[in-house]
Amino acid sequence: MKAAVVSKDKVVKIEEKELRALRPNEALLEMECCGVCHTDLHVKDGDFGDASGIVLGHEGIGKVVAIGDDVTSLAIGDRASVAWLYESCGSCEYCVNGNESLCRSVRNAGYSVDGGMAEECIVVADYAVKVPEDLGSAEASSITCAGVTTYKAVKVSDIKPGQWIAIYGLGGLGNLALQYAKNVFNAKVIGIDINDKQLDFAKDHGADLVINPAKEDAAKVIQEVTGGAHAAVVTAVSKAAFNSAVDAVRAGGTIVAVGLPPESMDLNIPRLVLDGIKIVGSLVGTRTDLAEAFQFAAEGKVVPKVVMRQLEEINDIFDEMLSGQIKGRMVIDFQEK
Ligand code: NAD
Ligand code: ZN
Ligand code: ZN
Repeated sequence: MKAAVVSKDKVVKIEEKELRALRPNEALLEMECCGVCHTDLHVKDGDFGDASGIVLGHEGIGKVVAIGDDVTSLAIGDRASVAWLYESCGSCEYCVNGNESLCRSVRNAGYSVDGGMAEECIVVADYAVKVPEDLGSAEASSITCAGVTTYKAVKVSDIKPGQWIAIYGLGGLGNLALQYAKNVFNAKVIGIDINDKQLDFAKDHGADLVINPAKEDAAKVIQEVTGGAHAAVVTAVSKAAFNSAVDAVRAGGTIVAVGLPPESMDLNIPRLVLDGIKIVGSLVGTRTDLAEAFQFAAEGKVVPKVVMRQLEEINDIFDEMLSGQIKGRMVIDFQEK
């Protein structure tokens, strides 16, 4: 089968790979599609350590074509996800307390174990979340990372209906953060991006206020118009956005860190202490979060914008991502051959 493999020289190579035999708790997916997340770009660039030899992809949707002996959670013909949370231990304090993505022995698809950017993929059956019938596979692929991550981040922000939430970065993740915040949590949404095209897209999806921080001071505008946001979710791959978010929230506000620029943010300690600011990291979501995020998309509350591409275009897609040309998500199509 063909697969997108990270090479030592930080380009992705399309290689022929043989899959090993299925183990009792696993399922074999014939991949239908796989979204390209900015995290794939960090992985192939070695931002989190050397990942050469790994098959990329953690926004995969495939059809179950075989199951191991003990599998009861999936049946042949089901559609299921290949998510960043590939498998966790199931018994540690994180796993039993609803924080399975933080499990210290977690395995991540497309990073520490081969992922879904391939014609076929082996998954641990209990960790592959079933796609609801009325949700298309391409849309579901976007929810498998971008959707669940931002749905969870908005949950973690503890935003209440009618309150202001600032979404920094309106790319693959941010445009879904906006839709979950607006249509599921009933918040008032501020969209912030350095790319005017993303801002137009955000306006079309109901953003109440949009700001281009390359043209005006986003935190200042937010303070003037709203009195300070109640929360901010930062998906932008930029330290400047994290710093701005701290200045944009009101006293008692929460900043949820989601984007992964490999650098540090500045924190003014008196601002943190005197204004009771909370800063919290949020990593993807649990299997239950993903099932909920799928369901909201199946109900049409969140509509991922997806563009189907070919596997051979993967390096071009990364170039487009770096130069900020992508609106919504690029999704590798494995059905059109
Ligand atoms: P993307 O490239 O699709 O979108 C990033 C957006 O940020 C772009 O629209 C870009 O124009 C905008 N941006 C850049 N600089 C900005 C600035 N200073 N202010 C405002 N906007 C700015 O990327 P994506 O796929 O949405 O991923 C975003 C980040 O989230 C990546 O670092 C990725 O690794 C990370 N991520 C984290 C998790 C998690 O669990 N925490 C999950 C998935 C992805
Ligand atoms: Zn991702
Ligand atoms: Zn665990």
